Amino acid sequence: MNEFQLIKQYFQQTALAFSNEYASQGIGDDCASILIPSDYELQFSIDTLVEGVHFPKNANPFDIATRAVAVSISDLAAMAATPIGFTLAITLPELNEVWLKSFSEGLTQAAQFYQCPLMGGDTTKGPNLVISLQVHGVTKKGESLKRSGAKTGDNVYVSGPLGDGAGALSLVLENPRLNTGLAKQFYSPLAQVEFAQTIKTYATSCLDISDGLVQDLNHLCTSGTVGMKINPADIPLSDLLVATYGKEQALQYALEGGDDYQLAYTAKHCEHGICIGEVLKGNVVQVNGMEVKAGGYQHF
Ligand code: ADP
Ligand code: MG
Repeated sequence: MNEFQLIKQYFQQTALAFSNEYASQGIGDDCASILIPSDYELQFSIDTLVEGVHFPKNANPFDIATRAVAVSISDLAAMAATPIGFTLAITLPELNEVWLKSFSEGLTQAAQFYQCPLMGGDTTKGPNLVISLQVHGVTKKGESLKRSGAKTGDNVYVSGPLGDGAGALSLVLENPRLNTGLAKQFYSPLAQVEFAQTIKTYATSCLDISDGLVQDLNHLCTSGTVGMKINPADIPLSDLLVATYGKEQALQYALEGGDDYQLAYTAKHCEHGICIGEVLKGNVVQVNGMEVKAGGYQHF
């Protein structure tokens, strides 16, 4: 099998590389093409996953694929964008058809779930497994949710339970092939695409929580004129997380752990989501009245 056969066999399949109303040219030409109606804006984002950094060595290829798609699409959700399609640049240490088949099946499941087809990419050989996904989506012009925009007097909300990502990470670091129960949250977190549509008219600012609640909330205070007061007792924790780690550790994971891919957003009032605090004058995030240094993940 050569490079072109590999692409045809594992990437250019109808269930994975399907077309939709926006994706007008997919795999097979020098560029992919997206048709954008005149009153829409293209939103795009790229994420790289490095083996041993973003997922453990020897993880199930199916799970690597579902995670790669979900975490990338989460950025579209954070802008309240509708997914259109993605491109995939993959560096493989070897041509392993068993691995590729499973990876391709994971991509297909996620592509179908989010109705976001694979539209093109690049396939290379290199010493380590590295996966870069660029996702494309659309919003109506001017209707994307930004990180800036939080106002004094707004409330702070999250879309669902926090801490599961960090709780799951510690399980998969022990056992990379574990993909049930809490570990499922690591390999197939739910990108909040649909939830974002329910809050987009209320939210004044929004992002997805990938690096830890406190660190990410700091990004919503970027203007330097707003701070936040968070009530830890109001932070939603899943029963499974509390049962696995106890309340205290669960809360620690919720505040500082990453990989949740829930949305955090501010709004004067919102019927959807869970209110965990308020926006105040200032420029820091306070938890329990204490200023908290951002303890989330940073590469450098
Ligand atoms: P080029 O030499 O012009 O860069 P390639 O030979 O790399 O083209 O790719 C041929 C076609 O296959 C292109 O349409 C490209 O988008 C697609 N392709 C290559 N690798 C992948 C991949 N990993 N996933 C999806 N499509 C891919
Ligand atoms: Mg190429």
